[in-house]
Amino acid sequence: MHAAKCAEVLKMTMGTDSGGITFPYEIDNAFSGELKIELPFELDPSDNCVLPSLALAASVFLAQLCLARTIVSEFPCNEEMVGAIRPIVQLLYDVRCFKDRIPYQPTPHFNLRWHSNPKLFTLPSVRRASLLWSGGIDSTLCLISLLRNEYELFPLHIASNKGSEISEEQAVRELSHVLGVPYSRGRVFFPQLSEIGRHYSTAFDVFPYENAVPFGRDLLLILVAALIARRQSTPFVCIGGDYDGRHRQIRHNDRTIHRHDLESAYACSTLQSFLWEFVSPSLRLMPPLAQLTKYRILHEMIVKHPVLASTASFCFWGEPCGRCFKCQLYYLAERALQRKVFAFQTDPVLDRESEIALCVSDPDSENIPSSQTFHYFLSRIVERGEILPQEALLLEYRDRVYPQFQGRLTEMEQSLMHIYPDSIIPNDFHVL
Ligand SMILES: [Zn+2]
Repeated sequence: MHAAKCAEVLKMTMGTDSGGITFPYEIDNAFSGELKIELPFELDPSDNCVLPSLALAASVFLAQLCLARTIVSEFPCNEEMVGAIRPIVQLLYDVRCFKDRIPYQPTPHFNLRWHSNPKLFTLPSVRRASLLWSGGIDSTLCLISLLRNEYELFPLHIASNKGSEISEEQAVRELSHVLGVPYSRGRVFFPQLSEIGRHYSTAFDVFPYENAVPFGRDLLLILVAALIARRQSTPFVCIGGDYDGRHRQIRHNDRTIHRHDLESAYACSTLQSFLWEFVSPSLRLMPPLAQLTKYRILHEMIVKHPVLASTASFCFWGEPCGRCFKCQLYYLAERALQRKVFAFQTDPVLDRESEIALCVSDPDSENIPSSQTFHYFLSRIVERGEILPQEALLLEYRDRVYPQFQGRLTEMEQSLMHIYPDSIIPNDFHVL
C-alpha cells in the first residue's frame, strides 16, 4: 500500500461566454488553470437552469483527480445537491484509492459560497434521444440500436480523451458518413489534465496499461448532454455501458468497489435520482446496451458490422497500440471469431506484462476486466490449435489454464451471448 497524495483545497468558479463554459480552478498552491467546455451552440440565459448541476459535476470531476479534502465552490449550488451527489463522490474516491493502492479517503467537505436553487425544466414524452457518441464500438452499436427502435436521434461527439482524441474524431466523421447520420460536436479543454492526474496518482496516463481517462469523466459528459437534451427536447440521454461494466464489483477491505465508476448500475441510478431532482423530472438516463455483455457487443459488431467495427476507434492511445487493455481484448475477439477486422501495431500475445499474461499467471484474478470473455477467447483459440510458433503465452495458457474451461465453452458462449433483463431499459426497447 502506498501513501495517499491528497490536495487540501480545490477552489472552483464558473464563467460563461459565447464559446461555452469555463471552470477556473485552483488546487492548493500547486495548480491553477481552466477547464473549458465548448458547446455546439451559443449559451443563452435559458440554459442557466442546468449550469449549477454541471458546475457541481465539474468540481467533483476535478476533486477525484486530486482527492481534494475541501471543495470551495464559487458557483450556484446548495446542500441538497451536494447530499444527492455525495454517493457518487464516495464511489469515485473509493475507486481511485483502490486503483492507486492507497488508503481510502473521506469524501470532501463542500464549502458553498453561493447558495442557489436550480430551476427544473420539463421535456416532452417522445422517442427522441441525445447520444454521447465517442466513435467507439459500443456507442456506435448504441446508435444502430436506437435507430432500429425508431428513436429520433441527436448524436453528440465531445472530444475529451487525451491520447485518442484525434482517432475518435476521425472515426466519428467516417462513421457518420458511412451511416448517413449527422452529429454535433463539443469539446472539453483541460490542458493540465495529465499533469494533475500524474501528480496525485501513480496509475494515470502511463503507457500502455494506465490510460488517461479519468474516473468521473462521464459525470461531466452526461451533464453536458443534459444541457443539449434541453435544447433539443430529447427526454433520453443515451450513454455507453454494458452488462459487464454495470455489474462488475470488487470487494476490498469491507468496501464494494464499482470498478467502472459512472458506468455501474449503482452510479447510474444515483445520478438518475439527482437529475430528476435537480435538472429535469422528465430526463431519462439510458445505456441502450445495458443488457448485453462486452462479448455480445463485440460479436455483434465484428460479425454483423465489420466495416463499422474497423472504422471505429477503440485503443486508449489512439493508435491501435496492440498493448492496452482494449487492443488485447479486440485482438483476441477477432482471432476467436475468426474474422480479420482490426490492424494492430504489435501483437498483443507477445507482451509478457499484459492482461493476457495475467490470465495465464493468475486466471482467477479480480483485476482482469471481463475475465470470462478473456478466458473464452483464449480457450477458443487454443481449442482450435491456432497457436503460432512464437506464441509461448498461448502454449502456457493451453497447458495451465485451458483444462479448467475445456468442455464448458458452449455453456460459456451461451451465457456471454445472453440478453440480460435490466429495468433501466424501456419495456418497448429491443436492443437487437
Ligand atoms: Zn491500444
